[in-house]
Amino acid sequence: MQEPVTQPVFRFAPSPNGRLHLGHALSALRNEAEAARLGGKLLLRIEDIDPTRCRPEFEAHIRDDLDWLGIAFAGEPRRQSEHLAEHGVLLDRLAARGLLYPCACSRTAIREAADASGAEPLRDPDGAILYPGTCRALSGAQRTERVASGEPHALRLDMAAAIEAAGRQLSYVRFWPDGREAEVRAQPARWGDVTLARKETPTSYHLAVVADDAAQGVTHVVRGEDLEAATDVHVLLQVLLGLPTPRYQFHELVLDESHDKLSKSRGSTTLAQLRAEGLTAREARLRLGFPVPSGPDAEHGEPDHHGSDRQ
Ligand code: GLU
Repeated sequence: MQEPVTQPVFRFAPSPNGRLHLGHALSALRNEAEAARLGGKLLLRIEDIDPTRCRPEFEAHIRDDLDWLGIAFAGEPRRQSEHLAEHGVLLDRLAARGLLYPCACSRTAIREAADASGAEPLRDPDGAILYPGTCRALSGAQRTERVASGEPHALRLDMAAAIEAAGRQLSYVRFWPDGREAEVRAQPARWGDVTLARKETPTSYHLAVVADDAAQGVTHVVRGEDLEAATDVHVLLQVLLGLPTPRYQFHELVLDESHDKLSKSRGSTTLAQLRAEGLTAREARLRLGFPVPSGPDAEHGEPDHHGSDRQ
């Protein structure tokens, strides 16, 4: 049984598919600062649902970097890959309401269909081509047959049906570090029929993040502004599944010299590289605009008990 929420609950939720960079450090530090401001606790969640990209050694590196930064988390981390059955229960509930359909289209097929149509394709807030709904048109019998045949397929949310099923205006409360709050209207329709279970894994980012925020009793989500638009899908899923909607805060992203956001896929400088070049945790905090915690370590400048790979 879940205990009544007496204390705000925050989480930092990295994916172990590469080393952390300064953008992740900013996110973790903002969570730490906001949890301290509101008297909350901070949890760690490892978002490792992608078996093709996530590796246990990256989780170990993440924990080492967070330890070096001096961020303390309450309890043991939650690994999403250990909770796929719980995600499946939520999927079944959506399926039972007729809100999901199997889709066998590949990304290439979606792009080719868009090219063939000649028209400029509609895009989601991340710039990806909106799924044109090809498999939504399958009859009930064809859907059943597809699933029974074992053909690899994703499960997509029928967005129009889901919004109708939610049956009310969707919104969430956004909060800022200066204490301001505002109600924001969610517009999930701009994402189209999002994938809730992928071909290669029986869950998805959207489903897993909603499931695990609820399971961990998260009341305050602090994430990068690149995930602001995705929050609309999360609010829709929370309403459909009867889960509480946390408050949300979006922080600025750390940009590189070419003003692009830092990213693992583009090989941005990692915290490990900066550490090897001699950056201290204290300098990292100051560089990202966070005060250095006072305490026994403060006068040493650098928390040297973490400094095994410093030079
Ligand atoms: N795992 C996501 C990431 O590393 C963040 C999840 C979230 O804040 O919802 O970008």
